[in-house]
Amino acid sequence: SVELENIRKSYGQTEVLKGISLHVAPGRFCTFLGASGSGKSTLLKILAGFEKPDSGLLKIGGRDMAGVPVRKRNIGMVFQNYALFPNMNVAQNIAFGLKTRKLDKAEIHRRVNEMLEMTGLQGLGTRLPTELSGGQQQRVALARALVIRPDLLLMDEPLGALDRAIRQSLQGQIKDIQRVFGITILFVTHDQEEALHLSDEIVVMKNGTIEQVGPPRTLYTRPASRFVGNFLGECN
Ligand code: ATP
Ligand code: MG
Repeated sequence: SVELENIRKSYGQTEVLKGISLHVAPGRFCTFLGASGSGKSTLLKILAGFEKPDSGLLKIGGRDMAGVPVRKRNIGMVFQNYALFPNMNVAQNIAFGLKTRKLDKAEIHRRVNEMLEMTGLQGLGTRLPTELSGGQQQRVALARALVIRPDLLLMDEPLGALDRAIRQSLQGQIKDIQRVFGITILFVTHDQEEALHLSDEIVVMKNGTIEQVGPPRTLYTRPASRFVGNFLGECN
């Protein structure tokens, strides 16, 4: 589970998160929607441990994350600009996440192969990132994030740069992976259709606050404000 209680964050004079409180139950797929600059990425960076909140409480799996560094959070991350290591092949990129864990070679090999298969990258283990398409590169990023068997997967516009057909196949794969792993996913997208399709819950953000939280159907049929209504309406 993920619990946020009154999380605040300012950069200089600008408060970008104005008291965010949210509870996401284990195994849920929760998507953040909201205009550019509303604070979505900042919130994910705080969850990952890249940024510190000015105040508020953050718990993951019931554990208080204050002072817990990135590498001890057991979180998988796929960010749009979270590049692959260019000098490592696909298998090495995926295995990288396991380096700090005490696993023997055979186990690493087994897990990397499992991930290659799960993300549809069979046979591409020895390719370099430059020899892959954009969609394949994002699959590697996803495999690298999942290979550690994280409690939580954070995805910030992971499919944003991909064309429609590849997006749709990756969406299906992400849902399958969520079902198999039973993992909690926090997902950011600008694509309302994608959000309505993938999510158990949608969080609509506006200027550093949460405007509404609920299952896609509720937000769509009963938007709490004109902002939410207009926002979701844009996808038709
Ligand atoms: P987008 O949809 O464009 O990705 P977002 O909802 O992810 O937007 P954030 O990246 O969280 O928005 O940014 C929220 C606000 O905080 C923006 O006004 C941004 O300019 C500001 N901001 C983010 N990071 C920093 C930083 N390191 N220093 C100063 N301001 C920042
Ligand atoms: Mg962002």
